[in-house]
Amino acid sequence: MQRITILGSTGSIGVSTLDVLSGHPDRYQVFALAAQSSDAKLLEQVERFHPRYAVLCEPAAAERLRSSLQGRGLPTEVLCGAEALVEVASAAEVDTVVAAVVGAAGLAPTLAAVTHGKRVLLANKESLVMAGRLFMDAVRRHNAQLLPVDSEHNAIFQCLPQPFAGMSSAGVRRLILTGSGGPFRDLPLSAFGSITPDQACAHPNWSMGRKISVDSATMMNKGLEFIEACWLFDAQPEQLEVVLHPQSIVHSMVEFLDGSVLAQMGQPDMRTPIAHCLAWPERIKNRVPSLNFFQLGSLSFGAPDPERYPCLDLAIAAMRSGGTAPAALNAANEIAVAEFLTGRISFPQIAITVDRVMQGWNGWEPRDLDCVIEADLRARAMAADALVACRRVAL
Ligand code: NAD
Ligand code: MG
Repeated sequence: MQRITILGSTGSIGVSTLDVLSGHPDRYQVFALAAQSSDAKLLEQVERFHPRYAVLCEPAAAERLRSSLQGRGLPTEVLCGAEALVEVASAAEVDTVVAAVVGAAGLAPTLAAVTHGKRVLLANKESLVMAGRLFMDAVRRHNAQLLPVDSEHNAIFQCLPQPFAGMSSAGVRRLILTGSGGPFRDLPLSAFGSITPDQACAHPNWSMGRKISVDSATMMNKGLEFIEACWLFDAQPEQLEVVLHPQSIVHSMVEFLDGSVLAQMGQPDMRTPIAHCLAWPERIKNRVPSLNFFQLGSLSFGAPDPERYPCLDLAIAAMRSGGTAPAALNAANEIAVAEFLTGRISFPQIAITVDRVMQGWNGWEPRDLDCVIEADLRARAMAADALVACRRVAL
């Protein structure tokens, strides 16, 4: 029986994880569920999965959940605040932590799970982007098991020999990350200024949270995944390539020295990589339907246009500069995306804001988590300044 904590249980990945778990009550037991503020959704999950702990970061939401559960005879204790997230990620009773909080808020609890030697199912790519070297050092030092949930990295993981001892000893020439290009792949660039948040969140193939949906539309998501792949597989930026693949059926590929290319394919449904990570090295059932190749007909591939997707190049440049540059990129992007989602800046201003911050960034190698947090905060302040300038231009 694996005892599981889900950080971000009310989000898209959290809900998909619970859907997979619900089919295997004999293998998995939910130890803790954690979210930001959605007490009504968390209440439903608590009623269904009876965790030992339910965590909400927002105090008022935690209070509401506590009173809804009063007198119900459920075994669940409600905890509150960011420290509680760390507690349920590192508790001795926990075997597996699903890291599915969105954004920089995921870093501290995910790293806590790592330093307590847990099996960590990583969806929160931002924590690896922010603290790549420190994070991977901690994985090795504490003997944690890191399994990639992100579909591209999960695909690459499935194509690599296990145990994987590095790109050269596995005979790998290139890692090929695929990306659909999002909802604006064919939209004229002249129309980008009037893109609305709802249009940006309507991904053609995947159903995801709003932040990652916008990142997919700008292809910052692929940029963050580029950085994530460098750290996960100890690859140099030159060993990675991003390929557009509108159908989202090939989730990524590995090319070996002899010219062989292995691809992992499947429905664009996160329950596949989630089930793979939960059961690894075994396989378990989920509710994902089979691929129908007759209906698919053909798969196509192409090169991403840098003019359409400036965020992709900004992220690759941040990885090449190293140090705190990826943390700064991530922070600037979070601020810009939040502004776009509330309608305060236009879609093209996301890339402009991130670019402004990166132009003024003087990176350094972070010694510890505090250095990463400092870089994150500094980049957020720079992004806020850049946004003021952006809005002045718009007036
Ligand atoms: P989402 O917005 O649907 O859900 C986010 C979850 O995190 C929610 O449960 C929310 O309550 C919680 N949360 C947000 N801020 C928090 C905070 N400060 N403290 C505690 N909890 C907080 O996001 P999602 O689409 O499920 O994505 C989650 C993560 O997984 C992201 O890092 C994303 O990049 C990654 N990911 C998602 C997908 C996908 O298909 N959705 C695929 C690959 C990777
Ligand atoms: Mg992905």
